[in-house]
Amino acid sequence: MIRTLSLTCSRCGKVFSAQVHLYYQDDFTAQSFKDIKLVCDDCIRAWKEKWQIAHAEFHEENYVLTVTITLKDGTVYKNMDCTPMDDTESVITGEDIPPEAQHALYNYYVTFAQKRESQQIKDCFFTKEEDGKMSADITTVGGERYDKLVFYVEDGYLKTEQDVPDYVMDGLVIAYKSYLAQEEMLSTASQPAPRMPQRKPMPESQWNTGEGYGSGNTTGGFGHRNRNPFGGF
Ligand SMILES: [Zn+2]
Repeated sequence: MIRTLSLTCSRCGKVFSAQVHLYYQDDFTAQSFKDIKLVCDDCIRAWKEKWQIAHAEFHEENYVLTVTITLKDGTVYKNMDCTPMDDTESVITGEDIPPEAQHALYNYYVTFAQKRESQQIKDCFFTKEEDGKMSADITTVGGERYDKLVFYVEDGYLKTEQDVPDYVMDGLVIAYKSYLAQEEMLSTASQPAPRMPQRKPMPESQWNTGEGYGSGNTTGGFGHRNRNPFGGF
């Protein structure tokens, strides 16, 4: 049976004519050829014109990458899940966006990834100060330096005496945890050493108080149990 399909745009409803190809919208619910969602040239042109990216802000948390896109016409798409594709140098988002915009988005992503890389902690050296506090000398991959950054643990959270960016704080927490783990390993291999001055007790829910102090290591009761002393990991 021969049937006809009129070229009607699924977006604007106009009947249009086509030359060498047709645009259509992917639609998994389409059962037959007549259900296909055609899109006219005018709508494609408007779509491409709309997707002029003025700014894109990437954000990564718990390994989930999202992007907030501001278009030149002022439209904002907030916190869209997205996936960068290195082979095609594009970023795929939940929203249908033209290839040119996917590529433009990738350039924003590269800038974001480079910045994130430069904010990684390259070196972190710890010193025990005379008053019992700890200090850290930190250098980031990008060359930022934080010298003699004094910090302490309060209510189960690590705090610094001066304000530092979140990425420095995150790096410091990770570095200090591995420092404590290393200290503990070394101390169990050596003779008992004098114990640390007694700390103010921490809330039991967040901090392991007491039990670890008597074992004769130099770091007191940090992280002896599986309980996470700093929260967040
Ligand atoms: Zn149309």
